[in-house]
Amino acid sequence: MTTVTNLGFPRIGAKRELKRALERHWSGEDDTATLQAAAAALRARHWKLQVAAGVDVPPSNDFSLYDQVLDTAFLFDAIPHRYRTLAEHEPLAAYFAMARGLQREGIDLHALEMTKWFDTNYHYLVPELQAGQAFALRGDKPLAEFREAKSLGIHTRPVLLGPVSFLLLAKTTDGSAALELLDALLPSYVQLLAQLAEAGADWVQLDEPLLVQDLDDAARAAFERAYAVLGGAAAQVRPKILLATYFGALDDNLELAASLPVEGLHVDLVRAPEQLDAVLKALPAGRVLSAGLVNGRNIWRTHLDNALILARYAQTDRGADLLWLAPSCSLLHSPVDLSLEKKLDDELRSWLAFSRQKLEELRVLADALDGRPSAEAGLAANRDALDARRRSPRVHNPAVAARLAALTGADAQRHSGYAQRRVAQHAALQLPLLPTTTIGSFPQTLEVREARAKHKSGKLSLADYEAFLEQQTAHCVREQEALGLDVLVHGEFERNDMVEYFGEQLEGFAFTGNGWVQSYGSRCVKPPVIFGDVSRPQPMTVRWSRYAQSLTRKPMKGMLTGPVTVLQWSFVRDDQERDLTCRQIALALRDEVNDLEAAGIGVIQVDEPAIREGLPLRRAQWRSYLDWAVEAFRISTSGVRDATQVHTHMCYSEFNDIIHSVAAMDADVISIETSRSRMELLDAFVRFNYPNEIGPGVYDIHSPRVPDKAEMVDLLRKALAVLKPEQLWVNPDCGLKTRGWPETRAALQALVAAAAELRAEQADANVA
Ligand code: GLN
Ligand code: ZN
Repeated sequence: MTTVTNLGFPRIGAKRELKRALERHWSGEDDTATLQAAAAALRARHWKLQVAAGVDVPPSNDFSLYDQVLDTAFLFDAIPHRYRTLAEHEPLAAYFAMARGLQREGIDLHALEMTKWFDTNYHYLVPELQAGQAFALRGDKPLAEFREAKSLGIHTRPVLLGPVSFLLLAKTTDGSAALELLDALLPSYVQLLAQLAEAGADWVQLDEPLLVQDLDDAARAAFERAYAVLGGAAAQVRPKILLATYFGALDDNLELAASLPVEGLHVDLVRAPEQLDAVLKALPAGRVLSAGLVNGRNIWRTHLDNALILARYAQTDRGADLLWLAPSCSLLHSPVDLSLEKKLDDELRSWLAFSRQKLEELRVLADALDGRPSAEAGLAANRDALDARRRSPRVHNPAVAARLAALTGADAQRHSGYAQRRVAQHAALQLPLLPTTTIGSFPQTLEVREARAKHKSGKLSLADYEAFLEQQTAHCVREQEALGLDVLVHGEFERNDMVEYFGEQLEGFAFTGNGWVQSYGSRCVKPPVIFGDVSRPQPMTVRWSRYAQSLTRKPMKGMLTGPVTVLQWSFVRDDQERDLTCRQIALALRDEVNDLEAAGIGVIQVDEPAIREGLPLRRAQWRSYLDWAVEAFRISTSGVRDATQVHTHMCYSEFNDIIHSVAAMDADVISIETSRSRMELLDAFVRFNYPNEIGPGVYDIHSPRVPDKAEMVDLLRKALAVLKPEQLWVNPDCGLKTRGWPETRAALQALVAAAAELRAEQADANVA
């Protein structure tokens, strides 16, 4: 009989119950026991839901109050010194302090760093380690949750982050190699495995997603060493081990993964179906194959007939007892239950599957493999839904296809090179040396958010809402004029979110009411669903930019979200390649850029904060991704005259490995995040002679702290050591929407003054 298993279930709850419970606890409303009871109720509900959906072996310890990597650090006592005292007295408070910092009488603890979990939009907390540190099995969370499920009559497979991935995902504070700590860490894993076996766990799942990335010799050796200890003779009592890999193909790590002394291997056959053959060949006889056949990262129904072909092939090789069916990865990255979704129309809903539905799909597949007649109805319904989707006129737009087919290289190329454009732009814009600007948004005050909510719920008419927005915009323009900024922005008061705002106005996008996915801790996002060919029925932002420009003689910067960022932060179609969808978005944005220009907007910024996070997990695939990503940006921005100045913005500081592609985007001006790293990122520009203009951020908008003029002058001087004065812009790190007006005003005043001081210095130097 074929077994259906799951690698992990979303923990936030269909209605974001965990978010609510956490926030009540953090605000002091609920005590620890109340929070724990809410968490236990969610776990119980999710285990029962999985069993009801047909899962034979659901996971346990996939739940987390904040993050599974933080859980692992806490479990093995990898608690940095600064939290130790608190951890002895109030472990849960210390856990949350590691997650989100803590400020209360006499305590000021900053949080661990947070970063992206592989190429997902989930963020994990980065454990801080140092050479020579000790580990210990400090907690019993995996054990407790296994027993909790058992008491409900549900036999689970505990999930742990594997030791090698844990170390490689951590950072060391002393520059030492984290893998050196492996031998210190392993005894705690051995101890935990023994305890789990004793509690009745027959299998344990060790997640080692690092196995789908490029590994050096030290990492390979660490895998061999770790699993020799965990899986080999040294561990006397232990559950069987399922080594779980996901998010890509094992490729050159396949031999390694197959050689480790474990009892089962999970592979991702959604991202990498082509690896099945090689995996079956490499996997020793008697070893379980867990086949990840249903996409854990997107919201479309699975093509069950295709999945069944792979499953049958695997079954022929392994036999039914050694084949498990599973989602490609943990369902953490999918919303919970489509049956609760009220906002989508019936047709669209019939094309989708959320976590619960994905598990039901696995059941159908297993039943089909085992020859149960009941599977037929499920397969037939799946075929009908996929056929309907394929044929739906909502998916295909011949005009979009025709336009894409007509694209030529010239469409991704400005008319002239930067040197010539620069001359035209300087004549048109008449900007001073070291021009000042901001990144786009100004404070989204309570007043702004309340007006939007009132309008959404029908309590504020469109006319009144727009009048309110005009008033906010006008106020923002006056503020910027008073501050003396050179290139102004309208403030983005009309926008809820930088992707949603555009998605709502584009064809081919849909929005769920309940499609929440955890981003980090209690924070969730509801990504738009791109279901069809993308086009722009009418201008999206021109009205606001034109209005704002009418209020001032200074240049008003138009403000758009770039094609790669829109793509990256949405659930994308699975019936065409990502690059094609991205080009469609680029064409829609190109129309908007051209319309802005026609409306008299001479500076247009196209934000691409997500371009770096789209990088494939394997270096070998970077080139092709960067090529189409850069091309999409260029398609959206190349329709304008030389005199129109194109800006882009990115808010991260790791540029070294993509600097050539950033330059290839050929934006006239790029603004980037730098202030927190004290301009460290400029290293990239020392080695690479960036040809166009740059605004390295001098004001860290992620902090309520207001930097003074001297501090900004200092940062600008650092920048001037690497960049020519004619190249340099002066601006904050990112948009100001999360800040308040008083701090914004104070910081921008200092920023304008800093620019003026250096401008005067440069003038003196020129005279001298
Ligand atoms: N223009 C956007 C803003 O100012 C950019 C946001 C971002 O970079 N994430 O808010
Ligand atoms: Zn930004």
